[in-house]
Amino acid sequence: MAGPVRSLDDLSNKGADLVIACRACGHDRTVAIEQVMAVFFRRRWSTDWSAAHQRFRCRKCGSKDVRLGVDFYGYAVRRQRRPAALAAVPVTLKPGLHPPPPGVSLSEWNRATERERKRLVDRARS
Ligand SMILES: [Zn+2]
Repeated sequence: MAGPVRSLDDLSNKGADLVIACRACGHDRTVAIEQVMAVFFRRRWSTDWSAAHQRFRCRKCGSKDVRLGVDFYGYAVRRQRRPAALAAVPVTLKPGLHPPPPGVSLSEWNRATERERKRLVDRARS
């Protein structure tokens, strides 16, 4: 980690997500930093790290005694909220295949069996 976190902006710049951990009940969750920033920006709250602590409350027990942490990898959030982004990773043509006919997606083409590919080509021609 490069330097201490002084504000939520630091997290944002580092691409890290925010962990909100409850001291009262032990519940914690990770929130995407862009989501947090959007709320703070809209409400014109200070993104100062210590000031930000007052803005959170435990979702489970309602306690305001929360500890903010940093999730540098954002695994939890990515798992829950970003399946679309993960699926958007460019699909490349499987080695040894001809490019698909127009109107057929690469992923469909890659997955198809030999026979299905013939069918897709016929369909594209008709
Ligand atoms: Zn709690």
